[in-house]
Amino acid sequence: LTFSGFDLPESLAMLRDVVARFVAEHIRPAEEVLGPERRALPPETVQDLQTRARRAGLWCLDAPAEYGGGGISAFESVVVWEAASQHRFCHPVPGGGAFGYNPPAPMFQGNQGQIERYVRPHIEHGWLAFTAIAEAAGGSDPARAIRTQAVRRGDDWVLNGEKLWITHAARAHYGVVYARSAGGISCFIVDADIPGLTFTEMPVVRDAWPFRITLDDVRVPAGNLLGEEGGGLALAGAFLQRGRLVYAARSVGVAEEALRLAKEWVTNRHTFGAPLASRQAVQFAIANARMRIEAARLLTWRAAWLLDAGRDARTEVATAKLVATETAYDVVDEVMQLFGAMGTSRELPLEGWWRDLRVARIVEGASEILRHQVAAAEMARLPGRA
Ligand SMILES: Cc1cc2nc3c(=O)[nH]c(=O)nc-3n(C[C@H](O)[C@H](O)[C@H](O)COP(=O)(O)OP(=O)(O)OC[C@H]3O[C@@H](n4cnc5c(N)ncnc54)[C@H](O)[C@@H]3O)c2cc1C
Repeated sequence: LTFSGFDLPESLAMLRDVVARFVAEHIRPAEEVLGPERRALPPETVQDLQTRARRAGLWCLDAPAEYGGGGISAFESVVVWEAASQHRFCHPVPGGGAFGYNPPAPMFQGNQGQIERYVRPHIEHGWLAFTAIAEAAGGSDPARAIRTQAVRRGDDWVLNGEKLWITHAARAHYGVVYARSAGGISCFIVDADIPGLTFTEMPVVRDAWPFRITLDDVRVPAGNLLGEEGGGLALAGAFLQRGRLVYAARSVGVAEEALRLAKEWVTNRHTFGAPLASRQAVQFAIANARMRIEAARLLTWRAAWLLDAGRDARTEVATAKLVATETAYDVVDEVMQLFGAMGTSRELPLEGWWRDLRVARIVEGASEILRHQVAAAEMARLPGRA
């Protein structure tokens, strides 16, 4: 990996443009015909978008090529996800899954049998999977909070417990459940239609509501233990880095799109005999948004680049996710202000993004947890410490 300045390689710029065109030609028009009461793209629209995306070679781009995915790097991924997210229903996945749903990252560390049984068909058939870490006792500190139990009985593991706030759960084909066994926190692949598993929707501020999952004597075959017994949190760590970067990239994309809407609006909207754009207060809002978006994007690019270079990028990834989600939330909030009443209308994507981004500051590492991580890395650099 060589550094070649801030220009994107030509092939990546082309891929980004193809994705941006797909969003402009297919996803935004599909959203524009929906009434303001809709909370997601209809399933038949998503299916149609998926067919088009597959045809265009835009399918499960993050998944390794050897399993049928696009095999793009972390850097390519943040560039692509930024472009893919510049539309209304981009949370929790662009176009409601238009570009496929990537398997949870720990699945790629599965054994051959698990790859054949879950990962390949997931990509081929466009399955959806959930990741179940959080519980009533908390999500930030799963090592202490996880109460869900896994007990080995003969050839099976028996799982009992309750998971909260799990995205996609009831629509998923299978999930990765983190549970406490004798050897520590372990990861289990759980089929969604297995007896003993129930899902209840949990209404939240964002349109894509997560689910409560109850596990009541769920028997999972021994072959569905993912990785080593007790190795669950190490696998979760792998899931977090790329997941957090995607969150950062998506936030940059949304902020960029909000700024585009703002520029059109302030150019055309007149008050007191002049366009809003002529007022210094408005120009400063536009300038602040531009500067913060650039900073968030460069932090995201750098963290992705470090990850690709095989470096320990945990602090940089935490920084990127924190800065990008907080920037996007503030930018969207400011743009809503520029739009006045119209900013709050469900006819525009702004209020939906604002609700999505409120959640983005809590999931995949809440801002406080990320600040804690950055502070710990910073304090470790005190003079005199190795
Ligand atoms: C819409 C939505 C979708 C979600 N999807 C999933 C999913 O698919 N899978 C999944 O496993 N989870 C999911 N979650 C849960 C999410 O991961 C957790 O909400 C998150 O990890 C925080 O955990 P918590 O809510 O239990 O808050 P807690 O861990 O109880 O923390 C509460 C607050 O205290 C702060 N805090 C915690 N520790 C400290 C500290 N040491 N110092 C200062 N402040 C601190 C936190 O930042 C937070 O603001 C989802 C949540 C939402 C809202």
